[in-house]
Amino acid sequence: MCGIVGVYSNEPVVRDLFYALNTLQHRGQESCGIAVSDDKDISCHKGMGLVQEVFREENIQNMNGNIGIGHVRYSTAGGSYEYNTQPLLGFSKGKRIAIAHNGNLINNQLLKTRLEEDGMMFQTTIDSEVILYLISRYYNGNMLDAVKKTMDLIKGAYSLVVMLKDKMVAVRDPYGFRPLVMGRRGDDYIFASETGVIDVLGGEYIRDLEPGEIVIVKDNKMESHMYEHKAPMSTCIFEHIYFARPDATIDGLNAYSFRVKTGEILAKESPVDADVIVPVPDSGRPGAIGFSSKSGIPIMEGLVKNRYMGRTFIKPTQREREIAVKLKLNPIVDVVKGKKVVLVDDSIVRGTTSKRLIESLRAAGAKEVHMRITSPPVTHSCYFGIDTPRRKNLIAAHSTVQEICDNIGADSLGFISIDALREAAGPEFKFCKACFDGKYPLDPCVL
Ligand code: SF4
Repeated sequence: MCGIVGVYSNEPVVRDLFYALNTLQHRGQESCGIAVSDDKDISCHKGMGLVQEVFREENIQNMNGNIGIGHVRYSTAGGSYEYNTQPLLGFSKGKRIAIAHNGNLINNQLLKTRLEEDGMMFQTTIDSEVILYLISRYYNGNMLDAVKKTMDLIKGAYSLVVMLKDKMVAVRDPYGFRPLVMGRRGDDYIFASETGVIDVLGGEYIRDLEPGEIVIVKDNKMESHMYEHKAPMSTCIFEHIYFARPDATIDGLNAYSFRVKTGEILAKESPVDADVIVPVPDSGRPGAIGFSSKSGIPIMEGLVKNRYMGRTFIKPTQREREIAVKLKLNPIVDVVKGKKVVLVDDSIVRGTTSKRLIESLRAAGAKEVHMRITSPPVTHSCYFGIDTPRRKNLIAAHSTVQEICDNIGADSLGFISIDALREAAGPEFKFCKACFDGKYPLDPCVL
């Protein structure tokens, strides 16, 4: 999972990109980078670490240019290495080209093998380089043509911002797996993974790119084109459940409102007799608010979050994840002691986090701990850019709800149903839910 941004302006954009990447930091904390074009050449600064670590004033001062793209990365494929940091830069017919990509190609290996057999040597191990290479190969002065020919070959999830020295191109894959929004600020164009970027930069949200849409901005003019081969709309529902910031509105559905609604439905589907609702901060809070409003059970902050720790879901190894849980959340004894507690979170993936939290609440004196989850059980891996583990490590892939409940040590456990997701999202919203039912919009096994 990654975050991308592109800004096309008549003024220098590097500071906009810096602020935008800070806004998108939750989408990836392993590495980040910015590339800007000054109409003559493209310069780039990138590295491993958080945006605030990689970018110092001296880096920003030296980057001049009115068009730019940026990227924050969490590796779902290709490994966490310096050489995989983005934006990626290349040359095409003597012209510099840069790309930032969010998503995962499912036919990456096949394409890569073919290209290697043709003599191509890669600088990275990420699928984004395959996209860069194909666009460069097909670019003959007509970027639309090059992008469409590339889209004919690549399969999977991709939201892209591509930059040449005088133009910017934004692309969303035909399924619309990953978000990509467009905004205006005066004459400027802003493209980003989440609407929060447009808000922070003082722009106005225009719309989400349609699945299969290719937007080209050049000479201060924007053109929109559609890729001819349509696919069923399949926005990733996990963006709304967990990944996107609560202030993100993706394809017309606000993540916070969706999360509150799932909590309300959960209270109806899995009622419980309890004294207090405790959200897992911050991921379970909107759902807990919804659960409280429907059940009438008061909500209190019973876990204190250490805000200087990263998210457990996106630490690369199991051992790191376990340590992170212990460091990250501490119960408030006064809130939970002697109480029947409803602990609300947005998902259970491996079960490790829930187990540790329940242990710590019991150690703090909770009489009962009932776990309620505002998503269905995660039973299948994601191939489209969210780092769910292999199936064998997904607790719900091989356990019943009662077995999960026993494993995590809860007094009771309730998940919402897939129908509840549909109810919360509304009838117009078409989404991918394959990690809950294994029905992949694009079969990862056929390629
Ligand atoms: Fe999102 Fe799950 Fe579909 Fe992956 S499989 S795109 S995480 S809904």
